[in-house]
Amino acid sequence: MNDYDDILRLADHCVKCGLCLPQCPTYQLSRNENESPRGRIALMQALAANQLDARDDSLYRHLDNCLLCRRCEYVCPSGVQYGRIMDRAREHITQQRPPSRSEKFGRQLLSRHMPGVYQALRLYQKSGVQKLLRPVLKHNKKLDYLQNLMPPLPSLATFKSDYPVKTKTAQQVAIFTGCMGTSFDAPTLDAAITLLNALGYRVRLPDKPHCCGALQQHRGQAAETQALAVNNLQIFAEQDDEAVLFLASGCGAQLLEYPQRDWEQDQQRQKAEQLQKKLQDISSFLLKALQKNPLSFRPLNKCVVVHQPCSQRHVLGLPDVAAQLLAQIPDLQLRSLPDTSACCGAAGDYMLRHPQTAQALRQHLLDKILLDETDIIVSTNIGCSLFIQAGIEERGIRVMHPVQLLMERYRGKDTG
Ligand code: SF4
Ligand code: SF4
Repeated sequence: MNDYDDILRLADHCVKCGLCLPQCPTYQLSRNENESPRGRIALMQALAANQLDARDDSLYRHLDNCLLCRRCEYVCPSGVQYGRIMDRAREHITQQRPPSRSEKFGRQLLSRHMPGVYQALRLYQKSGVQKLLRPVLKHNKKLDYLQNLMPPLPSLATFKSDYPVKTKTAQQVAIFTGCMGTSFDAPTLDAAITLLNALGYRVRLPDKPHCCGALQQHRGQAAETQALAVNNLQIFAEQDDEAVLFLASGCGAQLLEYPQRDWEQDQQRQKAEQLQKKLQDISSFLLKALQKNPLSFRPLNKCVVVHQPCSQRHVLGLPDVAAQLLAQIPDLQLRSLPDTSACCGAAGDYMLRHPQTAQALRQHLLDKILLDETDIIVSTNIGCSLFIQAGIEERGIRVMHPVQLLMERYRGKDTG
């Protein structure tokens, strides 16, 4: 079997019916067949059949423009595994067009040293340099866009590796914090620990840095993605945890597909399957635990819009879990976005690489939210939350993980 056979095998399931086209955000924006799932599958088939060169610029552009939101996969009646085909094609293209050193370094920094990046950005804000530079950067569209992506950063939270409870028979769960959990997503992590402890679970946080590898996989960096996956198996698959809970749906989507990876050893595949069995979305886990052991939450008379990240909806297949969890809070007015709402545009580092498309998609989403009637937006993926927050910066609407909102009502904090 040559390197391309798996692309041909998987793509062969596509009958070119075009039912996915109206669902594809990039096709909706461009009306260009090459920017649609069907068109991209045809391009990848041509690549695999050696009719197109992996260094072809226009091939690269059309595939690179894909958000990997997998909305096409979700609606496809033939069960085409679009995400797998695209990952494979990007791997092949990356071999011919390797990322620059700075691009590789940037991604490594994000996946292995996020707390350090966070500290540096906070220093930039706190020292007043950001304030000083803001008027200058306003003249450069790209730099202005980048600095607006950054929310005000509180000091870096510290976490322990063990959060025990008094009950001796308590079950232990681990939290997959990922690269952002202890920095940008620290309020969610704090909330998850509090609620899990309150429900009688001992919580373990791994000391070792870890990252799901989604960013690397979506850029075709196969070796880097595999190294991160092996690290995760060591940290999570071999431990005595009842469950491994992930906070960000994007990480969960990546981790749940570990058994499908090309493992060199059977033992690694078995560990990947072991890990998959233990993995659970934090919201689903809490929902089930609350059904067995109810806690009481203070009422909140606010309007909350529930955003469903693509990973939550199309890969985890748990579109309603945030709304179900928040239904525990009395008086909350929950509004879901229309079923047709597509990707918010964040899509990992897509928002950095394709600012124009990302902003157009975000605007499309925001136009569907009645912002004047909204107090809080909840989202289960930190990347989506940060990007949505940057789009509504001056409106005073809070954007947070549903678990954080639940915890605030448990502690009785004022949600503003
Ligand atoms: S990916 Fe699925 S929905 Fe889209 S054209 Fe192919 S078979 Fe049809
Ligand atoms: S993954 Fe999303 S952006 Fe890419 S082709 Fe499918 S629907 Fe379109």
